[in-house]
Amino acid sequence: MVSVEIISQEDDMMTVLFKDSDRALLNAVRRNLMGHIPKMAIDTVRFQMGTYDQCIKCEHLNPAGVARRTAGGTGCSKCDAAFEKEGEDYIVWETNYAIPDEMIAQRLAMIPVPTDTEAYSFEESCPDCKDLVDEDRGCPTCNMIYTLRAFGAEGGRTITARDLTFLGDDSGNVPEAYRDIPITILHEGQMIELWATARMGYGVNHAKWSTTAGVTFEPRQIASISNDKRAKILFDMGLRISKKDFKDGKLEDIDKVSDLKKDLHNVGAGTGLSDDFDDAITLEDVKGEYLLSFETDGSMTPAEALNSAFNRLAERFSAIKEDIDHVIA
Ligand SMILES: [Zn+2]
Ligand SMILES: [Zn+2]
Repeated sequence: MVSVEIISQEDDMMTVLFKDSDRALLNAVRRNLMGHIPKMAIDTVRFQMGTYDQCIKCEHLNPAGVARRTAGGTGCSKCDAAFEKEGEDYIVWETNYAIPDEMIAQRLAMIPVPTDTEAYSFEESCPDCKDLVDEDRGCPTCNMIYTLRAFGAEGGRTITARDLTFLGDDSGNVPEAYRDIPITILHEGQMIELWATARMGYGVNHAKWSTTAGVTFEPRQIASISNDKRAKILFDMGLRISKKDFKDGKLEDIDKVSDLKKDLHNVGAGTGLSDDFDDAITLEDVKGEYLLSFETDGSMTPAEALNSAFNRLAERFSAIKEDIDHVIA
């Protein structure tokens, strides 16, 4: 029976040890982590286009021109302030900036949106939308809506994920650690206004729906000293691992073996010491044991991602089993 043990865990990183396992299973877990975990990501963006006269007194945005005295306007539609002089009574803003809309949409897609699979579902399986045609789908149980309205400044102001506002409670806001992701820079007179819709998807369809990065696995290894005298060449360097870390000539601790591997680069090929050292310390795979490590993008914790990958695998395997049973029966 396969067993899994957490070796290290941080907010966005995890290493786990699999026992009684094999490469095929580890690879299945790896592929599921990368491509088959449900994740929310911004999928469509509606850009508002236009030019506005912003009232300096009350900050209200009036459609360009209509409120100006010179154009026969009667002033700010909210506070009635007269629009006589640009810069004194009103500021002109235009939804115009250096980066194309497509690129901004791409950047928004890659910002990690908190994913709560209990609260949200796929549009195709949403209880309220599944019977509708594609264009009509989208409701508070399958879509997360964000708005962005930001203004530039002299010298340029960087618009970041912090400027995105989630229409709903705080749980939908971009996590604090990722709020400094830049979206664009706006200069004087430039503004951006948009509505973005996040939907649930899978990493196999687009990288924006991939929760994990750097998913790797390797056999767990243990180290043994095969030649005490030559091994001393490494220990004498006073690096991470010393002779006393070894018990009866063997080193089994996972973190220490990882440190040892780094140390061994100092006596390996190309160092000029590899002939003298002559593989005095050797590494050997532990049968059936593998170390899996990965990072998440902030849309969920590593533990949630791993559980989700396991659930997905369990579903797939039971479906295969049913098919086989059906064929045999
Ligand atoms: Zn006003
Ligand atoms: Zn829905």
